[in-house]
Amino acid sequence: MNIKRIDYKEIDSTNLEAARLATGGAAEGTLVVADAQTAGRGRRGRQWESPQGAAIYMSLILRPEAEPERVSGLTLVMALAVVQALEKLGLSGCQIKWPNDIVMNRKKLCGILTELHMENGKVSDVIIGVGINVNQECFISEIASTATSIYVETGRRIDKDVLIDAVISAFAQNYSIYQKTYDMTNLREDYHAFLANRNHEVRVLDPKGEYEGIALGINLRGELLVRKQDDTIEEVYAGEVSVRGIYGYI
Ligand code: ATP
Repeated sequence: MNIKRIDYKEIDSTNLEAARLATGGAAEGTLVVADAQTAGRGRRGRQWESPQGAAIYMSLILRPEAEPERVSGLTLVMALAVVQALEKLGLSGCQIKWPNDIVMNRKKLCGILTELHMENGKVSDVIIGVGINVNQECFISEIASTATSIYVETGRRIDKDVLIDAVISAFAQNYSIYQKTYDMTNLREDYHAFLANRNHEVRVLDPKGEYEGIALGINLRGELLVRKQDDTIEEVYAGEVSVRGIYGYI
């Protein structure tokens, strides 16, 4: 993948800017990077705290030749790339909270937001946004109990550009593997190795009804397999639900 990086001092949201560029014809591999976001977003309209300077806010444009239902797996492909990049920089102990968060010591270090656009019934582009808390020393009170940064957890200050390059190169490698099957066949084992929820009790916050069970891992579509108390296995699709630990965030 050819990466073309475009930098901004401040932007409303890197995902929104990437979507605008994609609509204007920007190629796969276009990477929007900002020092701050004024309207950073999480899933389902939630906000992503995006103060100036200390964190990474970036969005990558992809143009996969795939059915839309194959696209949500790309969130997992990126989550895997982020933990692989952190390990490469010597930051061990990071885990994935299915489907889209990276945590360290059970607190959130990184969020991923994948957005898909269709044109004439086909996927025209996919935007994968990544926010990584790198050098922040503290967080606003609303997220102080669940958010953390690399600096807070390790005392190390990381060069943001080095981490961006490591994430993008890990992603490019994972993406080419994913494209062979358009599912998690060849990446599932690596993903499971970092999956914080695996074999843990979870509560699935499904708008149609909450339930508890044991998270067994993911299927090839990237859905979370949860064994419920009655021994049936639920395949949890990320779109509408959040997953929590029984006693806390994980
Ligand atoms: P859930 O855990 O419910 O599935 P999520 O992890 O998908 O949620 P996102 O929508 O990805 O959450 O992220 C938005 C949420 O993350 C916010 O509601 C807030 O709680 C938290 N948050 C916002 N900014 C940050 C940040 N910079 N670092 C860590 N957490 C943040």
